[in-house]
Amino acid sequence: MSTGDPLLAARARVLNDLAAHGLADAHTVSVVEDCLARRRWWLAQWQQGAAYVDGLVAQDVQDALFDESRRWPLCIGCANPVEHSLSIEPELGPDPHWVCSESGTVVAALGRLATVAPPAS
Ligand SMILES: [Zn+2]
Repeated sequence: MSTGDPLLAARARVLNDLAAHGLADAHTVSVVEDCLARRRWWLAQWQQGAAYVDGLVAQDVQDALFDESRRWPLCIGCANPVEHSLSIEPELGPDPHWVCSESGTVVAALGRLATVAPPAS
């Protein structure tokens, strides 16, 4: 993705991965916008941080949802019956990936999570 604004790229990646897990509703979009606004300030102070900002926004959104007792994104690759989530690695670096917090398996690049089928009703 070649957009001039690293925050727009971050927004697109994070919204893609929220949508992949069925969480891209009006509320989570506003959470993303809040996180982007804070990172826009941060990036203005430290422009070399542009390569890191999408991973940071993803972690900000993850933290904000966790505060609402919502885990995102859930790991669906493990047989482990205990619900656990994916984490961003590196926490501060370019080319962030989602990694299973239990097994350490790399699941997908940020913005590339596969769509999770909704549970059968
Ligand atoms: Zn896992």
